[in-house]
Amino acid sequence: GEPVLEIRDLCVDYGAGKKAVRAITDATLTLHRGEVLGLAGESGSGKSTLAYALTRLLRAPGIITGGQVLFHSRPQGSDSTQTVDLLAAGVDELRVVRWSELSVVFQSAMHALNPVARINAQLTDMLRVHRKAMTAEQRNERAIELLRMVGITADRLHSYPHELSGGMRQRVMIAMALALEPQVVLMDEPTTALDVVTQREILEELMQLRQRLGFAIIFITHDLSLLIELADSIAIMYAGRIVERGGAQELFRSPRHPYTLGLINSFPALHGEKVRMEGIPGSPPALTALPSGCAFHPRCKFAIDRCSEEIPALLRPAADSDGTERTAACWLQTDGQTAPEQLALAAP
Ligand code: SF4
Ligand code: MG
Repeated sequence: GEPVLEIRDLCVDYGAGKKAVRAITDATLTLHRGEVLGLAGESGSGKSTLAYALTRLLRAPGIITGGQVLFHSRPQGSDSTQTVDLLAAGVDELRVVRWSELSVVFQSAMHALNPVARINAQLTDMLRVHRKAMTAEQRNERAIELLRMVGITADRLHSYPHELSGGMRQRVMIAMALALEPQVVLMDEPTTALDVVTQREILEELMQLRQRLGFAIIFITHDLSLLIELADSIAIMYAGRIVERGGAQELFRSPRHPYTLGLINSFPALHGEKVRMEGIPGSPPALTALPSGCAFHPRCKFAIDRCSEEIPALLRPAADSDGTERTAACWLQTDGQTAPEQLALAAP
């Protein structure tokens, strides 16, 4: 498909001058129309920083120090696209893009919802601001429709956020995010705080809505197993860099980066089967103390001398059978080649 959002060489620092710490290095990603792009990695890998940076919601001491975020917006009913660099856009331009074209669902709905407004009012208020042509009656009808879409029934319309369960509140957030029919919805751990059953219900509904409405999703989670199921393509982050990218199924079947392999081998057992979990030894490095060369080398069982000396380039191994391009930042890989034997043997 055609790209809707292109992140190019995005760099983020925390702090400035001598004390600056690089939090994101040269992140490059493309989201296509209607695609679900998953972004995974352990906590502290920079996933949320990337999300905040690309929506320009990053707060001090975070500073975007380079790159572009090109949003190819296509107004409803039009077939021409307009490209905006979100990193260069002025405040007014950003305000138009945010919510109506690119909306965000964060982990904690409690912080994003207004605690003293009833949930239908939160939706009608938003419509009043962004859809000036709507009458009060149309706004009310649309609010009901949106809440019904996410499984909230009419008897809940007048509830306050604190009167709802965590799952219900997250549904309200999703309704708000979809209210203006955006082309892209960015979700940062949207269901992580919920129990497994509620999480599954919400995600299934979300995927059905995406099917029906056609928006693209960037889905951020520490849970790679979730993305293998949900996402079309996946990017793996480690220590502020995207270390592997590819189609979801191919990446699962044949991971090209030892870190991806480690994440896959540490999936919990499905359906009660007893599977030995290998996991990854050690823990991710602090951004203030990144190992030399490949930041993963102290934890990598495949490391060679070169790994502690040189930062691996993003290589393009042989294209996958599903036609998607693969990139992996690992010295084991060679451009145009299939997976090296040691990785293939270790894969699930
Ligand atoms: Fe492991 Fe070396 Fe590849 Fe890094 S570059 S993941 S240390 S093999
Ligand atoms: Mg996070």
